[in-house]
Amino acid sequence: MRLEMQRMEKLRVLGDLAAAIAHEVRHPMTVAGGFLQLLREEKNPADKRHYIDIALQEMKRGEEIIAEYLAFANPEIQKPERVQAAERTRHVLNGLSSLANLQKIEIVHTLQAGLWVTVDAGMLDQVLLHVIRNGMEAMPQGGRLHVSVTKVRQYAEIQIEDTGVGMTLDEVARLGNPFYTTKDKGTGLGLMVAYRYVEVMRGKIRVQSEKGRGTRFLIQIPISG
Ligand code: ADP
Repeated sequence: MRLEMQRMEKLRVLGDLAAAIAHEVRHPMTVAGGFLQLLREEKNPADKRHYIDIALQEMKRGEEIIAEYLAFANPEIQKPERVQAAERTRHVLNGLSSLANLQKIEIVHTLQAGLWVTVDAGMLDQVLLHVIRNGMEAMPQGGRLHVSVTKVRQYAEIQIEDTGVGMTLDEVARLGNPFYTTKDKGTGLGLMVAYRYVEVMRGKIRVQSEKGRGTRFLIQIPISG
């Protein structure tokens, strides 16, 4: 009975979200279509290129929204393996290092080796990517990102701390809600996916933040024996 209720609740959430996603994806498609129509009439090569760029950008946005919905809906499709929390963190940080340079963000890290977790590595990477990228985007004037991996009880704890814009308690409470974004080009789906993945990995995620000073995310993943 309880399981049946849970299943129904899950289907309801997925259904509501699918309706919202359909609505969200319609917008970039309309914009892309409008610019393709303009393109048909346009003679000036520079304007043509500009219209193509906008249409492509909008298509990419639509694709991102759909990809995040699929990621949210199908976390069961996973290939668990034993990985070190520090290695995955280093891998994600490496991928973001040129962006950090460009944005004048100094990355400081302390990554404790030997903390093994059994998870889908791609899934853990996605969680880290969303949280680290958010931290970087919270520092448009540059700043410092501190990332650490340590053992806390039976968990590998990954802390990601920025010196960015920070959030009020109300803003923190809205994190993970679908479509909650304060960014021009945001989808407001990144943390929704991250929170769900952490749940699937039987981990925990906490946020501490102070408006104007910065934010710390604490992600705990159970260590595997
Ligand atoms: P998106 O990045 O597309 O906006 P997210 O779900 O990843 O979607 O984040 C939702 C919102 O949470 C962001 O728009 C931002 O307002 C806030 N946020 C997330 N991480 C941070 C952070 N480190 N510092 C300040 N605000 C943050």
